[in-house]
Amino acid sequence: MPDIVIRQTAHAGRITLARPDALNAMTYDMCLQIEAALDSWAKDDDVQHVVLDAQGDKAFCAGGDIAQLYDTGMAGDFAFGQQFWADEYRLNAKIFNYPKPVISFLQGFTMGGGVGLGCHGTHRVVGETSRIAMPECGIGLIPDVGGTLILALAPGRIGEYLGTTGYRMAAADAIFAGFADLFVPQDQWFDLIQQLEDGASPDILAQAAQAPGDGLLSALQPDIDKYFAGERLGDIITTLQQVDSDFAKDTLKLLQRNSPLAMASTIEVLHRLRGPTLSMAKALDHEYRFTYRAMEHGDLLEGIRAAIIDKDRRPKWQYADLRVPAIAVSKMLMPLGKNALTLEDVRMTKTTVCFIGLGNMGAPMAANLAKAGLHVIGYDTAGTTAEGVTPAQSATDAAQGADIVLSMLPNGAILRDVAAAVLPVMKPGALFLDCSTVDVDSARAVARDAQDAGLLFVDAPVSGGIGGAAAGTLTFMAGGSAAAFETAQPLFDIMGQKAVHCGDAGAGQAAKICNNMILGATMIATCEAFALADKLGLDRQKMFDVVSTSSGYSWSMNAYCPAPNVGPQSPADNDYTPGFAAELMLKDLGLSQQAAEAVNADTPMGALALAQYRAFVEDEDGLGKDFSAMLPRFTSRGRI
Ligand code: NAD
Repeated sequence: MPDIVIRQTAHAGRITLARPDALNAMTYDMCLQIEAALDSWAKDDDVQHVVLDAQGDKAFCAGGDIAQLYDTGMAGDFAFGQQFWADEYRLNAKIFNYPKPVISFLQGFTMGGGVGLGCHGTHRVVGETSRIAMPECGIGLIPDVGGTLILALAPGRIGEYLGTTGYRMAAADAIFAGFADLFVPQDQWFDLIQQLEDGASPDILAQAAQAPGDGLLSALQPDIDKYFAGERLGDIITTLQQVDSDFAKDTLKLLQRNSPLAMASTIEVLHRLRGPTLSMAKALDHEYRFTYRAMEHGDLLEGIRAAIIDKDRRPKWQYADLRVPAIAVSKMLMPLGKNALTLEDVRMTKTTVCFIGLGNMGAPMAANLAKAGLHVIGYDTAGTTAEGVTPAQSATDAAQGADIVLSMLPNGAILRDVAAAVLPVMKPGALFLDCSTVDVDSARAVARDAQDAGLLFVDAPVSGGIGGAAAGTLTFMAGGSAAAFETAQPLFDIMGQKAVHCGDAGAGQAAKICNNMILGATMIATCEAFALADKLGLDRQKMFDVVSTSSGYSWSMNAYCPAPNVGPQSPADNDYTPGFAAELMLKDLGLSQQAAEAVNADTPMGALALAQYRAFVEDEDGLGKDFSAMLPRFTSRGRI
């Protein structure tokens, strides 16, 4: 079972957390998948809004997966946690700044990392079972994932109270404190989500919302404001100790459970944030200062040990007497210099891509990667290069030290040769991403060799032609492991508008040859229809105007019209200079027939298209022309 289900409905981007047995705790992997989905939906006009929900009735998301952090931290690897937080905080900021409505349905527990996911959108829906909290001080961390922004904006000193005690807010309290917007009875959620999926406006949520009833926080606010007004944690503790009330006693009990260093730092962060310069970026920056140091210098590992490893619930905190020196807080919150949080997606800009095959498709694809800030080193036997790409002397020179080797080559034999040369020099764990159209066997053979060499492999042929390559709107059909696909995803986001993970290695090529079998046949059908229309005296523009909006429409007609000066710009307007060369279409049709033969599939139209392109390329003058040059071929002949 996947930990998360990401999909697109008619009008919504949909994310469902699917780890109910782990209270939907968010793993690193889930965080990266959500970010990739948000990136692609941001520029997809079909997606009006994003809807987040979770399976199970106990929790929307009870936090980040801290077991993962503990293992790496105990092994002395603090970098894993630091990277995880940096990536998670970037996601939190992305949700907060998202250009479309983000709607979340928060049943049961929403805590810590769950708040970062569910409480920064535009429509935060709570119900009868909702319990929202920032309990990080209980494990030696400060409230993070952008939670300090909400806490700093909460009325009076409610932020200090919630951040240090970890108080669990029911629906009314969550709305009062600014963690949620609308109370909607949970038996209505399913219907509302369906309507949102079908394109209903998020305004339906306000129409369904009801009064949440009385919360506790608003009644407690006068006391909270009085006792939590101190400059430092010590002041707050002293004030509470001087008061003889149930509230003061209960609050002290809560505070005595949590990490003093974390609580003192929480108070300090909230005080620093309040004011006209408050922003999500500033909140995350301060949180990251603490979390970056939390394993090495803070109480985090001890806090996780006591909470979920040994489960003794007796953490040995630093400053257990609750007297935290100001200097200790300052040290946790000092600026991080070159390690400071950056909310730009720097994962990829640090990446070196070796691009092999800078032809009609490869050159614009490589240029787009360079434009996005990646370091791209390119090689092509023909000596071609592309804008922003550093040329190399050989494929092996280019591949050495690269994080990703991307190839865009004419056929499977060349791919195998290139792979044999570069796989041995690639960095361990690097990704070989082949975007050429080749036979399934070659893709699988290179995948096996890559695996044997300890490398990742994805076959990801493309659709969209040179126009799509230049515009960065290609569709990728990918085969390979989930990990390899995920590694390739940021590149797909730059070069394309969509990437479909079709299955294991070779599955991308299988999808591609099926697609191109349709393309070959429709291009021939489009060309022969134009030739017939000519002979019937029908104007080509009129023919285009009708067919492009009638049932005969296709990509060949609408996006790549084979008639010169008709429809959008295409190779026909450039004397049929490829574009997509007829010999490449011949290759693809050969691949689909070879595959059909191997699996005993009946593909008569594909076979006919192959015969037509073979005659055109091998016996006539089609070699070197665009595959749409079938049109002058048909117009120059009569019925055969
Ligand atoms: P192309 O012929 O323009 O480019 C291929 C490039 O590979 C050439 O520049 C060639 O010099 C280079 N090359 C050949 N052998 C090499 C080697 N050993 N090392 C380095 N470079 C080498 O072809 P294209 O149109 O860019 O297509 C590339 C791939 O993309 C093909 O597999 C094709 O089927 C597929 N494709 C093309 C289109 C299209 O519209 N052109 C669309 C989708 C998919």
